Amino acid sequence: MAEYDYDLFVVGAGSGGVRAARVASELGARVAIGEMDRMGGTCVNVGCIPKKLFVYGSHFSYDLEDARGYGWTTESTFDWATLRANKDREIARLNGIYQGLLERAGVDLFTGQARLLDPHTVEIDRTRRSAARILIASGGRAIVPDIPGSEHALTSNAFFSLEELPKRMMVVGAGYIALELGSVMCALGVDVTLVHRGEEILRGFDRDLRCHLHDELEAKGMRILLETQVTALRKAESAFEAQLDNGEVLETDFPVFAIGREPNIEGLGLEELGIELGHRGGIVVDDDFTSSVPSIHAVGDVTDHIQLTPVALAEGMHFAHHFYGQGKHRIDYMSIPTAVFCQPELATVGLTEAEAWHRCQDVRVYKSVFTPLKLTLSERNEHTIVKLVVDASNDRVIGCHMAGHGAAEIIQGLAVAMKAGATKAQFDATMGIHPTSAEEFVTLR
Ligand code: FAD
Ligand code: NDP
Repeated sequence: MAEYDYDLFVVGAGSGGVRAARVASELGARVAIGEMDRMGGTCVNVGCIPKKLFVYGSHFSYDLEDARGYGWTTESTFDWATLRANKDREIARLNGIYQGLLERAGVDLFTGQARLLDPHTVEIDRTRRSAARILIASGGRAIVPDIPGSEHALTSNAFFSLEELPKRMMVVGAGYIALELGSVMCALGVDVTLVHRGEEILRGFDRDLRCHLHDELEAKGMRILLETQVTALRKAESAFEAQLDNGEVLETDFPVFAIGREPNIEGLGLEELGIELGHRGGIVVDDDFTSSVPSIHAVGDVTDHIQLTPVALAEGMHFAHHFYGQGKHRIDYMSIPTAVFCQPELATVGLTEAEAWHRCQDVRVYKSVFTPLKLTLSERNEHTIVKLVVDASNDRVIGCHMAGHGAAEIIQGLAVAMKAGATKAQFDATMGIHPTSAEEFVTLR
């Protein structure tokens, strides 16, 4: 190994890269990491963390409304600049924590855009470093639409650095980001129009929850246009105009496209090295994250795997243990729990009802729609749905779905039960915690 400067050079200090670099170094490898932007990657800087802080911040508008039903008189105003500044301060603190983690683990840090020159050499900041292995953890980036006026199209990145709250937002897409960002803006009083090409929001999620959430979002004031596409964007005097294919011209101050994210491979020099890419442009890797070039590896969003932080972390961890430790286990991509932090939030693990009917001979479905106790006094119009999907042949719970307050916290626990192979009879035999929304899952008959 001494013929190289390092045992491992990691490109990208996001979720997957930091985890792999830190663990490999702690396991005794000589490790360097290169980052061209801020420490922590998408999740810390323009993803999960600032998004969730904005979700908390915006939810107070509903909490304050609820408070009145409980006898509180509240005079409240909202200041976007304060929320943004406080968010920025917290993110800067996290950037420092990530840097400290790497430094304490003995990882050498390089700043700049990295490019691979050959299977063992990385060029960064006008210097060349060699390594026995190179791990690409360069993440993903938002897809920008190919329409006239696309130079005016903003992405989720713009949301995190907005100077002022817009009056009107158009968000295109109906996946995670569109619903989350749209919900935050809606709760803060922005006039939000969601434009979606499909026949219902959140393709891939359980149909009952998709329809439930559609109604809930509209009840909160979001305008949802289905089976509609933006065909062009124009800059007007003081706003933007989106030409829709239904003939409408939608005026908006903040045109955001949340139509998916693609692997971030530009400028890395992968084509020259003949690294195999998948149909969505991600680096093709085997179960141990080795690409078609044996010394080059990849984890996280830059592969065509599911784009979630816990997945990138697990892949980085697996990579480090596999090559520098004793790790022999495989990552289990089945039944990954996930949440969409729209308002109310949606969380799910396992199969949808439709998927279950596709895979099982017979399926039992249990569901309940109710008003959470907390909202009875405030009379705020929001409902919760919980749903269990059961394989009738063995009574196993194969899908848990919820849209409502606390859904993500509740489904995380149920994901453990499902991983352990819990049956509906075991759910039924579990005492509820009363009064909660979670107890609905053990009282569904
Ligand atoms: P990243 O975290 O993107 O890190 C890649 C790093 O590589 C970046 O820092 C980049 O600057 C650097 N880089 C790229 N190219 C180079 C180069 N050539 N040289 C040097 N450095 C380079 N997931 C969840 O699980 N929960 C959520 O709530 C959630 N919310 C999200 C909200 C938004 C708005 C977005 C956009 C994403 C969200 N995600 C969420 C997804 C999650 O952020 C990603 O799946 C995760 O960050 C992927 O980690 P990664 O390590 O693969 O890449
Ligand atoms: P998603 O894949 O979740 O949603 C993309 C949306 O855009 C879909 O509604 C899709 O419609 C639509 N779409 C795709 N292409 C086009 C197009 N050309 N024109 C119009 N509409 C289009 O992507 P996001 O950008 O919302 O998020 C990217 C990923 O980041 C997520 O998949 C997720 O893995 C991760 N993420 C996770 C979060 C979390 O865990 N809470 C939060 C945010 C992001 P259709 O259904 O018809 O394909």
